[in-house]
Amino acid sequence: MSQYITIRRELLDDIIAHCKEVYPNEACGILAGRGNAIERAYRITNINNSTVTYEMDSREQINVKREIEKEGLKITCIYHSHPASPAYPSQTDIARAYWPGADDVLIYPDVYYVIVGHVNGALETRAFKVYPKQRPEKRYSQGLRPYGDTGSFCL
Ligand SMILES: [Zn+2]
Repeated sequence: MSQYITIRRELLDDIIAHCKEVYPNEACGILAGRGNAIERAYRITNINNSTVTYEMDSREQINVKREIEKEGLKITCIYHSHPASPAYPSQTDIARAYWPGADDVLIYPDVYYVIVGHVNGALETRAFKVYPKQRPEKRYSQGLRPYGDTGSFCL
């Protein structure tokens, strides 16, 4: 995957609308696209129904993965919200990017983790990539900032 991703404003708005709908619980979902462009956003039920954690409904996740393959797209990002904290990955978020018991093997080495945070009444969105074999606090990069004047965002 290239070094940046783009997302149209309407897709980002849809993700944010999802986060607001399930607030104060965490929202989660999958973004799919072609190359560096996100083309679809899929909402997934957070089976934890929690304000501090998320776990995707596995049946929905499988159906979404099938649909993504059928459309010839690839999983580009996994998103979730932090209803009461900034848009930075928690230790849990980072730990869960790895296969259980293998902290140097990423489950999705190519995906970006998009987080919608909520600080002092304002929403913020950032995307992170988790890298293996680095200290946890260095395991992500920050991004998703305005890109040109097309209403897109990029890393
Ligand atoms: Zn999180």
